[in-house]
Amino acid sequence: MLVRIKNHDVIKVQSSVKNLIIDNYFLYNPVKLIKSSRIMRSTIVYSILFVVLLVLLLSDDNNDFSEGADILFYNGPIITMEKDQPNPEAVYIENGIIKSTGDYDLISKNISPATLIVDLKGKTLLPGFIDSHTHPAISAFLYDMIDLSGFTHRSKEELWNHFSDKISDYKPGNWILCKGFDQILVPGLIPPSISFLDSLAPDNPVLIASQSLHSYWANSLAFRESGINPTTPDPDISSYYERDTNGNFTGYIAEQAAFEPFKKEILSSLGIKRLKENSLMVLKNYAKNGYTSITSMGITTSDKKVIQLYKHISSKTSTITNRILALLDILPKRENTVRNFIFLRYDAAHLFPSSSANGDDFFKIMGVKLWYDGSPYTGSMYLDAPYLDNHFTNNVLHIPPGHTGIPLLTKNQLSSYIMKYQSEGWQVAIHAQGDIAIRDIMNVYDDIGLQPENDFRHRIEHCILIDNESIEKMSKMNIHPSFHINHLYYYGDALEKQIIGASRADQMLPLKAAAENSLRFTLHADQPMFPSKPFSLLHTAVNRKTKDGKMLGKQNLITVYQGLEALTINAAWQIKMDEKIGSIKEGKYADLIILDRNPLETDKEDLRSIRVLDTYVHGNKINWSQ
Ligand SMILES: [Zn+2]
Ligand SMILES: [Zn+2]
Repeated sequence: MLVRIKNHDVIKVQSSVKNLIIDNYFLYNPVKLIKSSRIMRSTIVYSILFVVLLVLLLSDDNNDFSEGADILFYNGPIITMEKDQPNPEAVYIENGIIKSTGDYDLISKNISPATLIVDLKGKTLLPGFIDSHTHPAISAFLYDMIDLSGFTHRSKEELWNHFSDKISDYKPGNWILCKGFDQILVPGLIPPSISFLDSLAPDNPVLIASQSLHSYWANSLAFRESGINPTTPDPDISSYYERDTNGNFTGYIAEQAAFEPFKKEILSSLGIKRLKENSLMVLKNYAKNGYTSITSMGITTSDKKVIQLYKHISSKTSTITNRILALLDILPKRENTVRNFIFLRYDAAHLFPSSSANGDDFFKIMGVKLWYDGSPYTGSMYLDAPYLDNHFTNNVLHIPPGHTGIPLLTKNQLSSYIMKYQSEGWQVAIHAQGDIAIRDIMNVYDDIGLQPENDFRHRIEHCILIDNESIEKMSKMNIHPSFHINHLYYYGDALEKQIIGASRADQMLPLKAAAENSLRFTLHADQPMFPSKPFSLLHTAVNRKTKDGKMLGKQNLITVYQGLEALTINAAWQIKMDEKIGSIKEGKYADLIILDRNPLETDKEDLRSIRVLDTYVHGNKINWSQ
C-alpha cells in the first residue's frame, strides 16, 4: 500500500517539504509546513498526506522498539554485575524488561508459552556496555574517509602506498578525504607539502586531517574550492594557513577556525543524505562493539537538526511528524539501536531544552560539557611542570621549551558556567587532562561551596594526570572521573620517553587510587580519538601495557571485575540511569550482550580479542549489518 501511494505527487511534495525543512531548521509542526507551501494547499496533496498519516497511525510496522518476544537465556555463564546474585543459571525477559533471574528449573516453569528459548551453549551473557564519552557526530563525519592512522599503518611507506592505491577510486573533481594522520605513532612521518599532494592528485581536492583534529593539510584545488586564496587573511594567530617566505601556501592548516571553510565545502559535497546514513551506521557500530548505550560528550554541533536527527533515531518512539519525515526520506528510517545520552557544548546554549527532565530512557539531554584544557599532543594539556624539552616536542609537536599549557577558561568563567548549569538542573562534565587543570577545577568547586550530598553527579573527563590530593578532594565532594585509558596503550611510549617523562607517565591514569577513594570511575575511548572498543579499554585497564608491551604504573592495576564495573554499572550511575540499566537485575531493561568467552575466566593478556556475538537493547536484538 505504501508503495502504491509513492507517485509523482508525493515526490513533488517530498522535495517541497525537504526544502522547507532545510530552510526552516526543522519546524516540526505539520500545520505550519502545510500553510507555508502553495503546492500543499491543493486538495490532492491534502488527501495524500491524510492517507500517509492514516497508514502511519494504523501501521504496526513503525520500527519502534517492539515489545519483542519474551526470551529465556540459559546454559552459559551469566555475569549480572549485581553482588546479591552474581551468577544465576537463567534470565527471563518479558516485554523487553528483565522479569526474573535465578535457577533454570524454577524460572522455566513460569514463562509464557511463546517464549524464545536461547541456549547460550557456554557463551557468556553480560549487561550491555555503556560508552561514557564518545562523539557520534564527528565519527559520522569521518566515517568513510581514507584511514591514514597509526592504528592501521606502522610505517610511512605503507601509509603513502595505501593513500596512492585509494585515490584511483575517486572520479576527478571529487573530494579525497583522509583521517588519522599521526606523526607520533608512525615513525619518521613528515607532513605532506602542497606540491606533494598536487602531484599525487592534481584533479581532486585533497584534505588530510590529523589524528588530533587540530591540524590539516590540503592541496591547491582544495584551497581553491574552499574559496581560500593568498589574499585571504588568517582567522587568528593560533588558527592560520601556513605560508612560505614568498607568501605561498605550504598546505598546512592550523586549528578549527581556519579549517571552517574547508569543512563547509566538504559537508556540502558529502551531502546530508550520506551524513544521515553514516550517523545510523556509526550508532550500529557501537552496538556491534558491545555497547547498548552511549554518552555523546559535548556533541559537536550548534545545529538543532543534528539533535533532532539523533532524537528521531534513538527515542523510544518517534513523533508522528518525524515518522512522516522518515517516510518522505527526509529523516532516516528508524531501526533499533543504542540509547543516546547527550551532553551539549557550553557554547551551544540555544540547543538546551527548557528542562533537564526532557527525553526518555532512550534519548535524553543530560548536561553540559566544558573544556578547561586540551591535549598532551599539542601542548595544550595544562601541567604543573613543563613538557619535556627535546627535538620531538619542539619540532614535531611544536611545543616551545618551558611550556606548561594554559587553561582555556578563567576560574571566574568556570565558576559561573558551573553555577548557571547546575542551578538549571544539568550535570556538568569538564574536560581536564593535566594535574593543575584538575586541581584548579576542584578549587573552583570548593569556592562555590558544592554540597556533596546533592546528587549532581558532576564529572571530570579524561584525567590523564591527577594527583592524590585531587582524588581525595573529588571523593569528598562527590565528583567522579571518566578515564581516557587508551592514552596509555597507544601513546604510553611517546608520553614516557618524549612528552611528559617517566615519572609522570608512571603516575598517569590512576584507576586503583580512584577505586580506593570510592570514586565511581568509568573508562572511555573518546571515539574518534581511539576506536570505541570496550575490550581494548578493559585490556589496558587490567594490564597497563603500552602498544610496545611496556607496563606503566603497576601500582594502579585494577581487576577485570572492576574494569567491567567501570564499563557497566558505574557508567550507568554517571548518567543517572543505574536504576534502569548497567546490570542484570529484575525490573531493569534487558540491555544485554553475548560474548564468545567469559572475561572473568579469560587470560588477562587475551581480553582484547573477546568477541561480541549479539547485542540486545530493551530485549531487541540489534541488526548491525550494513
Ligand atoms: Zn574532551
Ligand atoms: Zn571527547
